[in-house]
Amino acid sequence: MARHYQYDAVVVGAGPNGLAAAITLLHSGKSVAVYEAHSKVGGGARSEELTLPGFVHDVCSAVHPLGIGSPLFRSLPLARYGLEWIQPPAPLAHPFDDGTAAILERSLGGTAVNLNGDAGAYRSLLGPLVDSWLGLDVDLLGPLRWPRHPGALARFGVLALLPARRLAESRFKGHRARALFAGVAAHSMLPLEAWGSAAFGLVLAVTGHALGWPIARGGSQALADALAAYVRSLGGEIVTGLAVRSVDELPPSRVVLCDVTPRQLLAIAGNRLASGYRRKLQRYRYGMAAFKMDWALSGRVPWKAGECARSATVHLGGKLEEIAASERAAWRGDYAQRPFVLAVQPSLFDPSRAPQSKHTLWAYCHVPNGSDFDMTERIEAQIERFAPGFRDLILARSVAPPAELERRNANLVGGDINGGAPTLGQLFFRPTYKTYRTSSPGLYLCSASTPPGGGVHGMCGYFAARSALREMF
Ligand SMILES: Cc1cc2nc3c(=O)[nH]c(=O)nc-3n(C[C@H](O)[C@H](O)[C@H](O)COP(=O)(O)OP(=O)(O)OC[C@H]3O[C@@H](n4cnc5c(N)ncnc54)[C@H](O)[C@@H]3O)c2cc1C
Repeated sequence: MARHYQYDAVVVGAGPNGLAAAITLLHSGKSVAVYEAHSKVGGGARSEELTLPGFVHDVCSAVHPLGIGSPLFRSLPLARYGLEWIQPPAPLAHPFDDGTAAILERSLGGTAVNLNGDAGAYRSLLGPLVDSWLGLDVDLLGPLRWPRHPGALARFGVLALLPARRLAESRFKGHRARALFAGVAAHSMLPLEAWGSAAFGLVLAVTGHALGWPIARGGSQALADALAAYVRSLGGEIVTGLAVRSVDELPPSRVVLCDVTPRQLLAIAGNRLASGYRRKLQRYRYGMAAFKMDWALSGRVPWKAGECARSATVHLGGKLEEIAASERAAWRGDYAQRPFVLAVQPSLFDPSRAPQSKHTLWAYCHVPNGSDFDMTERIEAQIERFAPGFRDLILARSVAPPAELERRNANLVGGDINGGAPTLGQLFFRPTYKTYRTSSPGLYLCSASTPPGGGVHGMCGYFAARSALREMF
């Protein structure tokens, strides 16, 4: 007897990947409903007044090279639904103790000139990748498959598989270029000695030159709201404030796509999964966590290196050796006295984030998964080191250790912001070799726990929906 379905597809979770999955299905004429636990859509792309009225903070993601570069997002009319990217003059600043800073400029030449003896080495490492980024992006931001640009991908792969530290130390002689690359590679949330950690440094540095590191006017929520408005414009339904406890409670549909991580999939759909697949999900490895802070400030951050005010993103960790020690400590379950801090100052470029002449600051450092150690003092000391007088500007602060991050969004398991450690073993076959598919026909995973992994790009959702369309319709 034919089953009656209320929807073609139900999506659990309205993060960037859940919304991207919904859009991909709607584009194919399918009926879709999305169920989101939080009262607002967006998951890792939400913004809130976390400190004081009038100060808008990005709860999770703040800077969007992968958002502006996402092959899916750039094909959508998101500007029509309120999304406006703001490009600070420079993508990234990396200050040193001597009061100078290395700046990742949009132009390769402008960046290289500031790297003392490493100008040529910087150009020859990144130049070819920047030139081939458009094309390479489609191969990199997706599952493992036959590449469209095998030559460019092979050139990238040879470098990307290296440990970031080895690549930096073998290519650059001076501490400025080494530190700049180390800070970008530390976004991997892997030790810089780990194989494959160079991939993250290369991709993010290349996007800095090829696309910029923009912020969204009004906060990252503007991106999520634009995606949600587009879903509704296509006839999709979004229900917020409804945490799905079991997929059996959902309205009948041909497919269910879950924007959740393996641990949650086990909780809401474990009864549908084969025991072997369940065991694999139980073995899935979550990565380092973030210890996140936000401040309302009475003025601009008083950087010793004034050029840090040209960029929204500022990396605080000094030389490569110090950054590497900080990342190694967090990976091994320890805490650096001087943690590598990733800071973002959006209100310098977007006045809508704070009352007039006031500012917001966003920052996090990496800590062991599930840690309850308070890093507040160490993070603020690290900012003060490069911006003396910073503490005097603090009007209010919001502190989010890993447990608070997970309370804000169930996908941040133990405070892991990428949906699972991006080790080589979990980079391509994420969370298992089945990637988007589960052992239950019609049940799919579409979160950052699938390829290509963490970041606000929606490509996990896009490819999961493509799998579902191919296999179930
Ligand atoms: C502190 C921090 C900083 C970051 N900075 C950046 C950055 O600057 N740039 C960048 O690109 N990325 C950044 N990221 C990573 C980025 O936010 C994530 O990789 C991205 O949001 C993953 O998208 P997703 O759709 O897979 O999951 P999420 O965005 O986590 O969305 C999952 C959604 O599912 C919902 N959900 C979960 N379980 C259920 C359930 N049972 N029922 C209903 N709903 C459910 C959640 O409430 C959530 O809304 C950051 C993350 C954090 C935490």
